[in-house]
Amino acid sequence: MHEGAITRQIVDSVLKEASNRKAKKVIEVDLLIGSLTFLNPEQVKFWYEILTKDTFIEGSKLSIRGSEAVVRCTKCNYEGSFKYVDDPALHVSMPTMQCPKCEGMVEIVSGKDCIIKSIRMSI
Ligand SMILES: [Zn+2]
Repeated sequence: MHEGAITRQIVDSVLKEASNRKAKKVIEVDLLIGSLTFLNPEQVKFWYEILTKDTFIEGSKLSIRGSEAVVRCTKCNYEGSFKYVDDPALHVSMPTMQCPKCEGMVEIVSGKDCIIKSIRMSI
């Protein structure tokens, strides 16, 4: 899985932000994971511990919250959650998404990202 690479980016951003603010210690990092990233929160936590070792943010707590994906329908302009179309005839790695109202094609508005909501640090 790609958790290792993503977590490295998260750790890099936290390190950069914390040193920009001349923080001595990072207490807690609040992370929002979109449901379309297909990241496993347990794996992210596992990597976070490994990647923060021997840095000044070692021992900081990582809080992870999931955020539901939001899509927009290209036909009826519906915006909200989508429904998965589970068609065994379609051998795709990603589930197909449909508008729950008109079954039209949807585009993703949010849910593909990993966002650092806040960093609690002591200066
Ligand atoms: Zn629609």
